[in-house]
Amino acid sequence: MSIETTELELSGDHMTAMHDLYRYLHANPELSMQENRTAEFILKELTALGLEAFVCGGTGVVGVLRNGDGPVVGFRADTDGLPMQEDTGLDYASTATGRLADGTEVPVMHGCGHDTHITAALTVARLLSEAPESWSGTVVFLFQPGEETAAGAKAMVDDGLWDRTPKPEVIYGQHVWPGLAGTVNISRGTAMAMADSWRITVKGRQSHGSQPEQSIDPIVLGAHMVVRIQTIVSREVHPMKSAVVTIGTFHAGLKENIIPATAEFTLNVRTFDPEVRERVLGSLRRILKAEADASGAPEPEIEEISSFPRCYNDPETADALISEFQRVLGEDAVNEVPPVMGSEDFGLLAEAIGVPSVYWMFGAFTQETLDSADPLPGNHSPYFAPDIEPTLTTGVRAAMTSLLSRLAR
Ligand code: ZN
Ligand code: ZN
Repeated sequence: MSIETTELELSGDHMTAMHDLYRYLHANPELSMQENRTAEFILKELTALGLEAFVCGGTGVVGVLRNGDGPVVGFRADTDGLPMQEDTGLDYASTATGRLADGTEVPVMHGCGHDTHITAALTVARLLSEAPESWSGTVVFLFQPGEETAAGAKAMVDDGLWDRTPKPEVIYGQHVWPGLAGTVNISRGTAMAMADSWRITVKGRQSHGSQPEQSIDPIVLGAHMVVRIQTIVSREVHPMKSAVVTIGTFHAGLKENIIPATAEFTLNVRTFDPEVRERVLGSLRRILKAEADASGAPEPEIEEISSFPRCYNDPETADALISEFQRVLGEDAVNEVPPVMGSEDFGLLAEAIGVPSVYWMFGAFTQETLDSADPLPGNHSPYFAPDIEPTLTTGVRAAMTSLLSRLAR
């Protein structure tokens, strides 16, 4: 199928509208699963463009653009900001605040660049709705909340997403990253790692520090758990496969002469291969239980904090898209890259209906910015400030290319 992206070029008006949209969104970020004003804004924009739009998964928004017979194609943009202070110094920098689940007030920033994703998707919705002669079929736009907490895709699916909208034959998605603007990075097969985070409560018995015989010391027990866990990757995972197990927090006790009743630590597991994931998680459960047994302590409590699914680019679908990207963006603008250890809940949307999905990165910085900054502030840095162009135009062209690769007339 051939596509005519030239018919869908951005005019001066479109550019101005897109840049205004981006600056507005950048200045008004919201925390994960609290994207209420963002959802309202997106809903209004989509409705004004003539899409059937509805809220799904609390603060997610779905926009369905129908244009005659043809395939149904999904496109996902995530919408949440992060609890962090923006230090970019931009005149459209965020001064927004939000509240964490425990009530703490925190500054909020679009520190992962999800504002570029919303902007690109809304702009594509506008271009497609204004040029019905160029394509036919149905586009399902998925404005997904809560990517940073891995809660959003699941919330949309659990809210009956796929019973409420036409089921796409494929779902595309993209993310801005600190590479050269105008280029895209794409993987065949696994694109990003699975990530599992747990909170472990180690249960002991409290006593005076001078009477260890009365205690079950959860600090000594927890320390054994932490050390033994280090052997999972080194002794249980195949040397040619990868896994990361990080224990990011460990808290226990209030005073030097009290052996506390409990200790608490959190851990994060990253894997690429579902079998390796099962092995590592199984080993964790075994070690946690056995170390507790060894100390004569009760079984520790394991609470799942988050679970990011695999982000897997169906190889055949990715190949087809890579050729289209090369044709539209230029051969030099498309980099085929190995998977990264970062994580995404994007994969869940397609997994839920058993269709392929493809996810890619688009660059955020001009060559000049890349040359001048060392180190370059990337996603989640308080200084992360994508160059508006050609970043946004590339996000729009990449998204449009993916959709038209299925829908062009
Ligand atoms: Zn992100
Ligand atoms: Zn992020």
